[in-house]
Amino acid sequence: MSAKQLDLGIEDPVKALCGVWDEILKRLSTKVNKPTYESFFKYTIPLAYDGATLTLGAPTQFAREWLEKKHCKLIVKCAEGLLATDLAVRVELCASPQVKKATPRKSPEKKVSKLADLFSSIPLSDRYTFDSFVVGPCNEFAHASARMVASTLDGEYNPFFIYGGTGLGKTHLMQSIGNLLAETAPDVQLAHISGETFTCHYVASVREHRTDAFRKYYRNVDIWLVDDVQYIAQKERTEEEFYHTLDLLCQIGKQVVICADQAPRDLRTMDARLRSRFESGLVADLARPDLETRIAILEKKAEMSTTRVPREVIEHIARVVDTNVRALEGAFIRLVAYSSFMRRPITLQLAADQLGIYFSDQRAKVNPRLIAEVVAARMGVDLANVLGACRQRRVVLARQIAMYLARELTDCTLDEIGAAIGGRNHATVLHARERVRGLTRSERELARTVKELHEAINGGKF
Ligand code: ADP
Ligand code: MG
Repeated sequence: MSAKQLDLGIEDPVKALCGVWDEILKRLSTKVNKPTYESFFKYTIPLAYDGATLTLGAPTQFAREWLEKKHCKLIVKCAEGLLATDLAVRVELCASPQVKKATPRKSPEKKVSKLADLFSSIPLSDRYTFDSFVVGPCNEFAHASARMVASTLDGEYNPFFIYGGTGLGKTHLMQSIGNLLAETAPDVQLAHISGETFTCHYVASVREHRTDAFRKYYRNVDIWLVDDVQYIAQKERTEEEFYHTLDLLCQIGKQVVICADQAPRDLRTMDARLRSRFESGLVADLARPDLETRIAILEKKAEMSTTRVPREVIEHIARVVDTNVRALEGAFIRLVAYSSFMRRPITLQLAADQLGIYFSDQRAKVNPRLIAEVVAARMGVDLANVLGACRQRRVVLARQIAMYLARELTDCTLDEIGAAIGGRNHATVLHARERVRGLTRSERELARTVKELHEAINGGKF
């Protein structure tokens, strides 16, 4: 990267661009499969952005060509709302270490595990520490528990199970435990994996007849961090192996920390034995942050940023973005980057304009109540009945479809959905979801209605 290209007369354009690219990467990682992500996107870095063209540096010639030919459109799509609307993407080869050095990635990675090669740990990110984690009523218990687990490490609270919706800080909290241990007890053997990597490692070990090595590896672990365990659901043999690994580690007093997107009892597709094993440990949930916590999180972000963000703007963002912390961070990064690129100070007006556009996205407005309204109208039943206790067949069906779609189209928890649609509990919502799933498999007409409703709500056509 030539320093000139990015010399926009602003405080830290490289940092701002890296922040935006990190956000784009996050979105990309949900759109392509893991090998594609690892080969083409993970080690690609942002080189320049001039307001119209984003220049990227790919690690190999092959990746460069592939990105340019196949993935430009996707990159543009994932940059939506972050960079120019009619964005052009150029990809250069950028393998030289000096160049990489000139554009430090936002989250330098640290390898903690000294355990060998074959089933290696996922490196922890330096960004995720207890110091950078803001505590509020939504995460107080999970945070205190995580600290306790990191400081005692005697396997008393085993497994330690953290759950919560997307973007609420599960990964942050889990990696904070790892990072603290890497600092205070560097001899501790730590393995950090995800449900997905566990599956891959296990399948590879079976294929290569190395299950013994696989098991041996885990026997030497002192603390086992497993993120997104829900990925192993419905993979029978993997679940079985996971159960035995968990059981073994717990028996010999090694600490296990597990994250999932749902409470153990709600991981319905997971083996019942595993679920009850999860429940037998220390279970802590992460809820959505309230306004004060959202403000505190943004204040922390602002402290770390070189750009000045006025208090009223922080409050504005915190009010507008109430879904999860990841969305909150995304909004903040976008605003800081926009102000840098456009050389405009951050004001309430700028925030209102920018975030207004960002969050006019219909999806952000979709909530269980709105879904119930749309479903009731489409099915010709009374909304009041759907939200009430009416047991008429068609009304019950509309209610269940609304619950099913709310689960699909919002980040709300089962309890939140139940509360919004007639004050029911999570078990009712879960039952509704299963029933609609079953019905859409057996009844074509109903499947079509549900599909149409899904598309209409998702596309903001209501
Ligand atoms: P999850 O794993 O639950 O989907 P993450 O741990 O990846 O969520 O969090 C999403 C983003 O929000 C991360 O960048 C993380 O650092 C940040 N974050 C979440 N909770 C907090 C918090 N309490 N304080 C500060 N940052 C947070
Ligand atoms: Mg996570």
